[in-house]
Amino acid sequence: MEAWRRQLDGPVSAFPIAKAGPAHIATLKTFDPPLSALDGRGFEGARRRAKRLLFPTDDGELVLLVHLMTAGRLRYLQAGEQGPKTPALQIAFEGGARLVLTEAGSKKRAGVWLLTPEAAAAELEHLGPEALHLGAEPLAEICADESRRLHSLLRDQRVIAGIGRAWANEILHRARLSPYALSRDLTSEEVERLAAAIDAELERGLELRERGAKDKRTYRVHDALDEPCYVCGMPIARVDFEEHTIYYCPECQTGGRILKDRRLSRLLR
Ligand SMILES: [Zn+2]
Repeated sequence: MEAWRRQLDGPVSAFPIAKAGPAHIATLKTFDPPLSALDGRGFEGARRRAKRLLFPTDDGELVLLVHLMTAGRLRYLQAGEQGPKTPALQIAFEGGARLVLTEAGSKKRAGVWLLTPEAAAAELEHLGPEALHLGAEPLAEICADESRRLHSLLRDQRVIAGIGRAWANEILHRARLSPYALSRDLTSEEVERLAAAIDAELERGLELRERGAKDKRTYRVHDALDEPCYVCGMPIARVDFEEHTIYYCPECQTGGRILKDRRLSRLLR
């Protein structure tokens, strides 16, 4: 997300908005103020809060908030550049450039909200602190606060903002911690390792994304079933937990133990 924000920051503020819209009915989540309220205004730039991109207007009156979910993509098209036929959202700038949101697949999950700054602040209030540069001390407090399985805790945006399921896999692997480990059981040394792994992996991801790397090069553990672990060479394993699939290295993370599928074991109990 941070890589996207940096890419869009300059271009979106270059020209005033000529026409905001159309937007897909399932994508635009607000109707008051209407999208057309953006017409004639300019964006100040691109901001980010966790996985949400924010485009405040330079008069300080409105904020366009975009949540891409997993399949949404935002692109800035130069004047005359070919774009998708039916984008989920289009913002046309004076001079002909466009900002377009597309979403692969038929399910429309990405969302766009046009809000006042106050409403945007309220919308973002329930997010936890940013993951990047969180630090060991705040992380220790979070871990001690309630006992949660690490994979689920890392993904919970209300607790720590900015880590999705794929990065949770990469981070726990680097920290050599089991995805099923309970947060309250971590030693202070393990919390420090986890905090360092969060920064190292998110920074690695940011750098790769900025260079335009695809998922396959970015993720080393996530979605890498049976591929050799980049540390020990053992095959990466996977397990279903809650509604997610977790990837991990049994050698590096669980002392050789294969984790049980939590969905299945619940059914068989
Ligand atoms: Zn390993």
